[in-house]
Amino acid sequence: MLFLRFRLFNGWQRGENGVRVKKVLMAVLGLCRETVVRAWELHDGDRPRVEVWLRVKARRRGRCGRCGKLASFYDQGGGERGWRHIDVGFATCELIADARRVDCPACGPTVAEVPWARHDSAFTRAFEDLVVHDAIVGNKQAAADRYGVSWRAVNHMCVRVATEALGRVDLLDGLVAVAIDEVKYKKGQRYLTVVCDHVTGKVVWAAKGRSKATVGKFFDALGPERSAELQFVTADGAEWIRTVVAERAPDAIVCLDTFHVISWATDALDEVRRGEWNQLRRSGGAAAAKTLKGLRFLLLRNWEHLTGAQRNTIRALDGSNRRLLRGWQLKEELRDIFTLPLLAARRALDAWLAYASRSKLDPFVKLARTIRTYRASIEATIEWKLTNGIAESNNAAIGRIRTNARGFHDPHAFITMIMLDRAGIAPQLPWATTA
Ligand SMILES: [Zn+2]
Repeated sequence: MLFLRFRLFNGWQRGENGVRVKKVLMAVLGLCRETVVRAWELHDGDRPRVEVWLRVKARRRGRCGRCGKLASFYDQGGGERGWRHIDVGFATCELIADARRVDCPACGPTVAEVPWARHDSAFTRAFEDLVVHDAIVGNKQAAADRYGVSWRAVNHMCVRVATEALGRVDLLDGLVAVAIDEVKYKKGQRYLTVVCDHVTGKVVWAAKGRSKATVGKFFDALGPERSAELQFVTADGAEWIRTVVAERAPDAIVCLDTFHVISWATDALDEVRRGEWNQLRRSGGAAAAKTLKGLRFLLLRNWEHLTGAQRNTIRALDGSNRRLLRGWQLKEELRDIFTLPLLAARRALDAWLAYASRSKLDPFVKLARTIRTYRASIEATIEWKLTNGIAESNNAAIGRIRTNARGFHDPHAFITMIMLDRAGIAPQLPWATTA
């Protein structure tokens, strides 16, 4: 006879034939009312292990483990199966039950659905949700170490949880304004194309590659009707994105993401700084060159985020390096233009382009040409106030995912983690979902 050698439980069990203990186990293990605890046992070892035998409450028909449809009983299947469950204090926990099969009209004979686990998994749903939660917050290796499972097992759990969640919701429904962006996943020009919803700020689609074909796949998934509903698409200056959008969503207004325009300007400013630094080094001004090198951070940072002392350092450029100060002013002025109402922004942009073209700073002369090319898209961005917050915060978060994982070799693994973290499909903590 099975017997729980656990003093605390023994005390509660007194005179109750173990009924209390079953109730305690149900609550402690977070089991739902559809399940019945049949027996339990505690095994000693390096780490204690609690085994709990369960059955699903008797029903005439079960559900197919694969598709969830009602199906009639088929056979008892391959006997007992075990699922690793959330640890109980110092002990690990395993749930054990018969894996009976049902005859699904769609899938054929399949192991019946059990309320505590996903199909074809050796772990319970709660255990997987907890591990995936930790893998998202930290990384897969940390989660693997914490729960004593392999990295591969954590990876499979992430895929299983993401696949299930994405099967439940259609993220591409009701899109009005999207941002199409590219994200590097590996050295050597390996990119993903990522699509975000401007309204919710969530990532709604991602795929390997950055080409017309990749963007085409997004519109394939969207379909012609939902493509016609798209009103705004923001993107960087990449022609391959614009061409496909013009073909597949001709009514959508294409905006140039503010985030990208500003980053062009900061790149131009950094090029000016590097040029000045090289010049000074060559002409023997070693000390002055060193100062310029240290200025990089200050110059690229937004003015409103600088301290009083840092602002004075920039003001001092007026006496020491006029060219660099001019570049810095051009960068800050361009940022300001995006906050103006359309008519004022148009006038300011005219003045900015004239000033930049005459600035004698090559990187800004070049930038002025680029901005003239994309002027219509830039004005659309200003007119419709599609802020850059979404692209910026998603890019930062995606960068964080990549850093936490110390890079990704497999683009699909990266996509899975991006969707889990940024598409709003991350699992809740198990105790938040069991009512
Ligand atoms: Zn089925």
